[in-house]
Amino acid sequence: MNRISRRGLCLVLSAPSGAGKSSVSRALLEQETELRLSVSATTRAPRPGEQEGVHYFFRSPEQFEAMDAAGEMLESANVFGRRYGTPRSPVEQALAAGRDVLFDIDWQGHLLLRAALPGDVVSVFLLPPSLEELERRLHGRGQDSAEEIARRMRASRDEISHWADFDHVLVNHEFHDTVAQVQAILHAARSAGSRQPWLPAFIDTLLRP
Ligand code: 5GP
Repeated sequence: MNRISRRGLCLVLSAPSGAGKSSVSRALLEQETELRLSVSATTRAPRPGEQEGVHYFFRSPEQFEAMDAAGEMLESANVFGRRYGTPRSPVEQALAAGRDVLFDIDWQGHLLLRAALPGDVVSVFLLPPSLEELERRLHGRGQDSAEEIARRMRASRDEISHWADFDHVLVNHEFHDTVAQVQAILHAARSAGSRQPWLPAFIDTLLRP
């Protein structure tokens, strides 16, 4: 019996910005050795400390559209007036090799990814405990201008309205609890019979008279 042989899955983690998604993603990637982050392409400018190929592939609008037109994106969307998209080939290679892929994408990307990879997606929507807490976290991280924060707060309401599209919805009250809950969701999804192509042969050995 080969316990490793399974198709990888896509774990989508979406949230309004400031809900704590990046910290949860980081903790998951540290604790789950079979999980890789899908690095998106974007036309937005790098924030201080962000690295090419680690946080994003930073592309001009022309470069982005060329990649999209060539079919190199699994999904793409406009978010905050910028283009964001998921490069296709790293995801397809990881899934085929039995590795799981974590996606930090918005609600539009989630729906498009589900359509592109039917049966491969399990999704989690992370809510902040309150809008006040969300705004406090956006100010606290000190990365965006007041104007950008106001824009993100407006966008948060829109993002939250799509909660029902997701398989699982968590309120991020306490960081460690949230990470544990997402891990439980990932582990449960891995055990789906449909993800383990070796199972029918194993069942045959169990049931052989
Ligand atoms: P930020 O600019 O704060 O890094 O990301 C802004 C929003 O874009 C976040 O909600 C993030 O989840 C979303 N996003 C990042 N990468 C992608 C992507 O490849 N596709 C889609 N659809 N959304 C993305």
